[in-house]
Amino acid sequence: MKLLSNSTSVRHLSAGRFFVTAAILATLLPACRRSEPVKLLGEAQGTYYSILYFDPQQRNLQPQVDSLLLAFDRSASLWVDSSLLRRVNANLVDTLDDILLTLLRNSLDVERYTQGAFNCRVGRIVQTWGFSFKQRSEPDSTALTAMLAAAHAPIAIDGRRIVKDPATELDFNAIAQGYASDLVAQYLERQGIHSYLVDIGGEVVSRGTKPDGTPWKVGIEQPAADSLSAPVVHTAIPLTDQAVVTSGSYRKYYERDGVKYSHTIDPSTARPVTHSLLSVSVVEKECWLADAMATAYMVMGLDSACRFIAAHPGQPGTDAVYFIYDSCGTMKTHATPAFDQLIIK
Ligand code: AMP
Ligand code: MG
Repeated sequence: MKLLSNSTSVRHLSAGRFFVTAAILATLLPACRRSEPVKLLGEAQGTYYSILYFDPQQRNLQPQVDSLLLAFDRSASLWVDSSLLRRVNANLVDTLDDILLTLLRNSLDVERYTQGAFNCRVGRIVQTWGFSFKQRSEPDSTALTAMLAAAHAPIAIDGRRIVKDPATELDFNAIAQGYASDLVAQYLERQGIHSYLVDIGGEVVSRGTKPDGTPWKVGIEQPAADSLSAPVVHTAIPLTDQAVVTSGSYRKYYERDGVKYSHTIDPSTARPVTHSLLSVSVVEKECWLADAMATAYMVMGLDSACRFIAAHPGQPGTDAVYFIYDSCGTMKTHATPAFDQLIIK
């Protein structure tokens, strides 16, 4: 599918090592004197952010958004050496702030809901396979057994304190960008802005419509051949008062001896997933939930994910879901009926 006409790509890759999973296109109004969107571009969480909003006062809220995202990184980022999460993982502190408490509670809820496909205790596994800090070593069976134990060791929240096995390391990367998008959206709401599109690394929250009453439009990226390919829109959907997140292995992987290792870990094996799913997109009210469920479906694989959706009608994250998968070298898609209705044909 070619790029939408009359659209402006708001996606750009971060200068760093980390790439986004979805290309986002926001269709802007033709230049219109009284309804120009304010556009903020920047970097956070090792990726880009792109925020569009309509504000009659045309305020530039970039300094406030930047400080919100900086505070988020200082709490939940694994790439900031002294972040609270890094110190919790190093067992230096056990008192969580509001951001980590929310991420942990939500992660444990999704873990229960997805019967363990989602698991925020995979931190050590992710690092060992080399996705966080480029240590590209293949773990031996002793290491795998130890990491499996740490990823399934009991964890509890006691007030603001986390009680965990010292070997357990948390990784909220599968949910954090979505939650950060939610927090930026909440900030805009508090400023009286009710028409916006917030995109942090491809995790997108929309609110309202554009001033002419048309919905925002978001493009789902075609899975790319390699991590550096230019993004191409595969499918476009309208979005109003909802979030959409795409999780995929095609940009975030590393290759060794001709084998591509996904950044998504199967918590039951402590190994990267290897099935045919190229990407999963989930539409939900809250971006953190769409983010978490997209990752969980990537872990399950197409067949298990479809069974899960069939077994949870009307439940969170199961209504509008879109799978792009490889079938003997051919790219195929599967959409739930609600997602199929969204697709702009
Ligand atoms: P996403 O791009 O949202 O699918 O998030 C993928 C990231 O989440 C990975 O790079 C890991 O840091 C982390 N992760 C990998 N596997 C899992 C899993 N099974 N459950 C939760 N987080 C995971
Ligand atoms: Mg995710």
